[in-house]
Amino acid sequence: MAEDGVKYSHAALHRELAAAAEQGLLSRFGGPWAVWGSVIRDGQVSVNCTRYGGEVTDPVDFSQAEIAMRRDIQPIIQVFRSAHPAFARCFLQETATTAGYRESREFNGDYRLTGDDVFDPPAFPDTIAWGAHPVDRHLPGSSGQQVQFLTKPYAIPYRCLVAQRCPNLLVAGALAAAEPQAFATLRVQAQCMAMGQAAGTAAALCAGTSTPTCQLDPGALRTALLAQKAIL
Ligand SMILES: Cc1cc2nc3c(=O)[nH]c(=O)nc-3n(C[C@H](O)[C@H](O)[C@H](O)COP(=O)(O)OP(=O)(O)OC[C@H]3O[C@@H](n4cnc5c(N)ncnc54)[C@H](O)[C@@H]3O)c2cc1C
Repeated sequence: MAEDGVKYSHAALHRELAAAAEQGLLSRFGGPWAVWGSVIRDGQVSVNCTRYGGEVTDPVDFSQAEIAMRRDIQPIIQVFRSAHPAFARCFLQETATTAGYRESREFNGDYRLTGDDVFDPPAFPDTIAWGAHPVDRHLPGSSGQQVQFLTKPYAIPYRCLVAQRCPNLLVAGALAAAEPQAFATLRVQAQCMAMGQAAGTAAALCAGTSTPTCQLDPGALRTALLAQKAIL
């Protein structure tokens, strides 16, 4: 991948996988992302490629997803072997124990981050983290992807973590309140870690002062996060 200058998905592998999907050898796929940063150790690479468009809250559909994606792995390996010399002798070492999912139930927070908040970011008084990952929408019914890179970082307000109707519940990470377009950048790991740090810090401040989470002074939370060297 390094020799081919690939930083994102590999065009030749994508082309061959699309041809295999066209012939009905596999259902659909994403990427494939098997690039710099995916190398675990010499000779091993993590491949992000299988895809299923379904509803993860439906256990039958989720089982179908597991079956379909595991079935797709062998044809994907065949394509990799024939499409690129780096994979000529590749074999499967292991798969994820269970399928991951990008979007599912949505949490009702005090504030729902919008697409406008991401592309034209306001300075929220209760900013607890910044995000900058591209707006990265994987199209579930196809092998397509829409990526919009951001020109500046956006702010994530504390209110996205505060439950609207359940007192003293904070929700961080891939369940924080956001419209689909904003969620397509908010859900990634860097932001999830920063939101988790903010939620934990907020919980400690609330517990220490017997304050309901919805009444926490955002200034006090930001001061505590800055003292932890959070980037605000
Ligand atoms: C295929 C795929 C590719 C992705 N690629 C990228 C990428 O390239 N870069 C990136 O930054 N992000 C990527 N993401 C998104 C990112 O990985 C997730 O959105 C993020 O990890 C979510 O973090 P989280 O802490 O909110 O949730 P999770 O990482 O899901 O953590 C939740 C944890 O809670 C545990 N748990 C659940 N229920 C209970 C319970 N009742 N008691 C105790 N523990 C429980 C779970 O076991 C889990 O460990 C990808 C996601 C998918 C599905």
